[in-house]
Amino acid sequence: MVNRKLLQLSLQSLMAHGCLEEKETKALIQKCCQSCEENFSNDIFRSIIKEINTRIKKFSFEIRHGACEDDDGQVYYCYLEQVVASPDGLVIENTILQAREQFTARAAQRSLARSLSHLVKEFLDRLVCDKWLSRTEDKEYHLGPRSLLDLLPFLQNRINSICSICSSLAIRAQQCPSCLSKAHVHCLSRFASGRNFIKCPHCDEDWKWKDCD
Ligand SMILES: [Zn+2]
Ligand SMILES: [Zn+2]
Repeated sequence: MVNRKLLQLSLQSLMAHGCLEEKETKALIQKCCQSCEENFSNDIFRSIIKEINTRIKKFSFEIRHGACEDDDGQVYYCYLEQVVASPDGLVIENTILQAREQFTARAAQRSLARSLSHLVKEFLDRLVCDKWLSRTEDKEYHLGPRSLLDLLPFLQNRINSICSICSSLAIRAQQCPSCLSKAHVHCLSRFASGRNFIKCPHCDEDWKWKDCD
């Protein structure tokens, strides 16, 4: 049983940050432990997340964690409202509308002299900064860890695309040329351990998953 003060402090800290990488989340909880004079360990960390989730579940909140689809498969922890469980997928529209409202309110206060493209860039930067979107080095945008985790139940219902290695949702993924099953790049990288060719875990055919050059 984790003490109440530590749970409160941990929850407040997680809410304030919204979405963090696993090591940042652990560092944050470690700080909370220090200020409550508790020893930090991975077991305590898991207990804290579990107990917080038990308590906030009735208010439809959740600390959800999962791997981002970026190449390194970094795990993120995000504080989320579970409204996406609703079958109509309303959250997508609400999230966009809220973000747009906040954005247009801010934008309206500023001079109209700023170009639209600058505003759009600023908006995208903010979505990237808050981890709703991720941006590649080539300035391509894809769903960020926060969106992926937030929309997980919705996406699982609507997108029939599962990684053939880790069995979780695969949106940004490579496709086996033979059976067209998908796998995350970070999963392929682990599975192949340095090789460019693998046997597809689904159909057992050769799969050149990475260019040699
Ligand atoms: Zn995977
Ligand atoms: Zn295959």
